[in-house]
Amino acid sequence: MSDLILFWHRSDLRISDNIGLAAARQQSAKVVGIFCLDRAILDRDDVAPARVTYMIGCLHDLQQRYREAGSQLLVIQDEPSRGIPKLATAIDAKAVFWNWDVEPYSKQRDRAVTNALQQAGIRVENFWDRLLHSPDEIRSGTGQPYTVYTPFWKNWSAKPKAEPVETLPITNVEQMTGLTLEEQEKAIRCGAIQLLPTAQSLGFVWENPLVIEPGEDAAREKLEEFGDRAIYAYQEQRNFPAVNGTSQLSAALKFGAIGIRTVWQATQTVMDNCRSEEMRANIRTWQQELAWREFYQHAMYNFPELAEGPYRETFKNFPWEDGEQLFQAWCEGQTGYPIVDAAMRQVNQTGWMHNRCRMIVASFLTKDLIINWQRGEKYFMQKLIDGDLSANNGGWQWSASSGMDPKPLRIFNPASQAQKFDPEGEYIRRWVPELRRVDTKMLLTGNISPLERKILGYPEPIVDHNQQQRKFKELYKQQKTDN
Ligand SMILES: Cc1cc2nc3c(=O)[nH]c(=O)nc-3n(C[C@H](O)[C@H](O)[C@H](O)COP(=O)(O)OP(=O)(O)OC[C@H]3O[C@@H](n4cnc5c(N)ncnc54)[C@H](O)[C@@H]3O)c2cc1C
Repeated sequence: MSDLILFWHRSDLRISDNIGLAAARQQSAKVVGIFCLDRAILDRDDVAPARVTYMIGCLHDLQQRYREAGSQLLVIQDEPSRGIPKLATAIDAKAVFWNWDVEPYSKQRDRAVTNALQQAGIRVENFWDRLLHSPDEIRSGTGQPYTVYTPFWKNWSAKPKAEPVETLPITNVEQMTGLTLEEQEKAIRCGAIQLLPTAQSLGFVWENPLVIEPGEDAAREKLEEFGDRAIYAYQEQRNFPAVNGTSQLSAALKFGAIGIRTVWQATQTVMDNCRSEEMRANIRTWQQELAWREFYQHAMYNFPELAEGPYRETFKNFPWEDGEQLFQAWCEGQTGYPIVDAAMRQVNQTGWMHNRCRMIVASFLTKDLIINWQRGEKYFMQKLIDGDLSANNGGWQWSASSGMDPKPLRIFNPASQAQKFDPEGEYIRRWVPELRRVDTKMLLTGNISPLERKILGYPEPIVDHNQQQRKFKELYKQQKTDN
């Protein structure tokens, strides 16, 4: 009879192309999935209801897949270093496997779980799954982790990439052995459940439709759809928020509803079938975005202090003004800057925001409103379906100019951004319906008269962009001198 191995799913909510799960399956036919509803994560004040709803959807899908394969996915509602050893001991599991994470909390939690399991005499095995290359693999000539993207990309892109791993033979249905009835009863007695809670019962109410469908099939379909069409025009189209020009795979990648090797292989397949250099350049640009994702995860792994605050000295004591009313107006999409308001309303209503707009609103919060980027970072985490510490922190530090990016100061002008990337005002009109009938030029430049704003019920600009830009530069200069 096979030894029982528990596989702990965290941000890899899938069966296919899962390195740790495939390793468990190779060692034993009796593999049971577990997932911890960890209150240390759920009770934080930066958890988005849309994200939890998406995650629960992925767990339903995963549970169904375990069932079809002849096993179970059990849910533990306990602190992991207590709940996992307790369950493993009760059902006589010989080992617990999981895939590594990069975040500071996860690393510390995993150490505690490992210690507790080892004390109980239960074997632990860990794997790198979420990245094409682990943080230790990508190092500079002197063996240091990279802090600049371009040399990272050069090194990272030159390395051969692994193929997707096969977790289950696809041909037969009952591929795993799960718990016996007796073992299931023991699991229930120590608190492990098979009935998944709803997001609502966990305290997260998301009443709007989910813009990204959860689960493995949905992620794979998104990848296929993107690989059939938009990837060939990605370089240009990715910047236009009114166009469906990006993959929308970020939530699936965050929760691991799709394996990164599967995604990479798909890009290589389309690359191999390309007829023109231009098409290949578009695919390459998308691959570079996947590398940004890895760059930020490596950065978080190697420099956990990023999670706590600015990377650059100049920003350590920056005199942020942190105006409360300005912050509220930004959150609610009531700044009087149409492109900023469109983007904030999009994230409030859907839990997703286009990348171009993430950059615009982040620049606006930090450089126009002179509000600490960490407040924006937190607000994004409270809203985003794909909210991810490494990518979000990386994006915010890049926008605030406080991060690793060597370019000193980056200030976006909302009007020129709108003119360039939403030239017909289509995106703005979709999300700021009160401006639907405003002339396009006025809509993009923001030159809407006070009277018209009043009639339409749209606010006056809460700050003057040019004035604030000058002010920010002054503060920055002063800060640099002081440092
Ligand atoms: C201020 C700010 C905050 C952000 N917060 C997040 C976040 O919480 N979670 C998140 O996944 N992304 C974040 N991003 C990065 C980026 O905006 C999203 O990954 C992207 O918009 C998701 O859409 P997509 O899947 O269609 O991307 P695509 O353009 O199709 O890109 C493919 C994949 O590459 C990765 N990727 C793309 N751009 C970036 C990037 N700049 N940094 C890291 N990974 C990237 C994502 O996994 C994405 O799914 C943030 C960017 C900024 C400027």
